[in-house]
Amino acid sequence: MSLHRDYDILVVGGGPAGMMAAARSATLGARVLLLEKNNCLGKKMLITGGGRCNLTNSANINEMIENIPGNGKFVYSALHQFSGEDLRNFLGSLGIKTKVEERGRVFPVSDRAADVVLALEKYLRQSGVSIRYGSKVDSLLLENQSCRGVFMDGESLRAKAVVVATGGLSYPNTGSTGDGYKMARQVGHSVTPLLPAAVSVTCNDPWISNRQAQGLSLQDVSIMIYNHRGKVLASEVGDVIITHWGLSGPGALRVGRAVALEAQRYPGEPIQGKIDLFPGFSVAVLEQKLNKVLEEGGKRSVKNLLSTILPERLAKVLLQLVGVPLESPANMVTRHNLRDLVAHFKALPIHITGTRPLKEATVTAGGIAIKEINPRTMASKQIKGLYFAGEVLDVDAQTGGFNMQVAFSTGFVAGESATFFIKEDLDEEQ
Ligand SMILES: Cc1cc2nc3c(=O)[nH]c(=O)nc-3n(C[C@H](O)[C@H](O)[C@H](O)COP(=O)(O)OP(=O)(O)OC[C@H]3O[C@@H](n4cnc5c(N)ncnc54)[C@H](O)[C@@H]3O)c2cc1C
Repeated sequence: MSLHRDYDILVVGGGPAGMMAAARSATLGARVLLLEKNNCLGKKMLITGGGRCNLTNSANINEMIENIPGNGKFVYSALHQFSGEDLRNFLGSLGIKTKVEERGRVFPVSDRAADVVLALEKYLRQSGVSIRYGSKVDSLLLENQSCRGVFMDGESLRAKAVVVATGGLSYPNTGSTGDGYKMARQVGHSVTPLLPAAVSVTCNDPWISNRQAQGLSLQDVSIMIYNHRGKVLASEVGDVIITHWGLSGPGALRVGRAVALEAQRYPGEPIQGKIDLFPGFSVAVLEQKLNKVLEEGGKRSVKNLLSTILPERLAKVLLQLVGVPLESPANMVTRHNLRDLVAHFKALPIHITGTRPLKEATVTAGGIAIKEINPRTMASKQIKGLYFAGEVLDVDAQTGGFNMQVAFSTGFVAGESATFFIKEDLDEEQ
């Protein structure tokens, strides 16, 4: 392919989406310049999965889409074109072996995100991608409704196509400060409301804010969220960590998106949460078990007995909520108290006030409106030569490796389509 510009394709942003777009374009023969405003690539990637980088999930494509509540169907084609398996094979060819952990989460065997970033960077260089660090793109260069480059520090950089992969708005100190939304708006694209997703929820229950249970980790509990009319907004299973402002941990993160959406739609309306501490047991079975524990306990304090089945601090919270004195002898607990305790085991009430802010979220919900993007190519339907990839799009997933897979898949497709586009453009010119 003979390409006559200095650079055929500019990729803006060196996260997983931008790196993959640049890699794919260069592999297909395009001359690519990757512009990254930080002094390194993949700054956010380095902190993913607690520094271990949960880079994809072993789920099949349909299961993946179920885990992408923010416009999952839009990425169906991209996931087919570059699947989780394709990603693992590609990384394997770069020397990054991967392993599958519980819930299908895929990590590098080394447990080091830095190894993945370094391998990608090496591949980019070997494929001939030029990388410019410390390069913050300000806006897109448009001519006759075609994207012909970018503006940066008052100068223009020209190319035949541009891929915008600037990420979302969470953890802005990693470089994701929402620049891509501004660039897109300036050229006429719509940006849907930006909200935190995969985010911790805040609560105003006194036992939470007075730190009585701070730091407790509840394993594999079920958490349900209801709106002010009692409609179920989300129901998830996972570990929940109690903090002094609310609930964190994977289970809480899974319901965070629904809470953020509801709080935005109906500001000030109450959002009710319930935690089932024993999702594997029915009320009847739990009543039987607790009854046995209390009967055998005789004059021992109900708090000590309850602490044999629950963390002690949580046992105290439950007893306070149902109004049973902590030191009551077990044989003084009434039938009514027992039923009330079990009702709290199965539906510990939580009063939710909202979520932690977007800057603390794992991912941004909302972004470039997908109706304006071709799902098979990631091309703008409005501007020739303009492509979007990764979190900047209005697509967001649950935790578990799905967000990174979306970034890699859409990056791959954008890089490939941009290269085919410039090739067709050249063929027309010749
Ligand atoms: C703490 C944390 C942990 C996470 N863990 C996981 C996980 O384990 N698994 C998972 O799947 N997902 C995880 N995510 C989400 C995942 O990291 C993101 O969804 C993913 O990085 C998005 O990739 P991206 O390439 O679209 O954007 P980003 O990774 O945000 O990269 C965008 C890049 O563009 C650059 N940029 C921005 N504006 C400009 C500009 N104007 N000019 C030039 N460059 C610019 C930025 O500096 C940045 O390097 C986590 C997120 C966080 C915050």
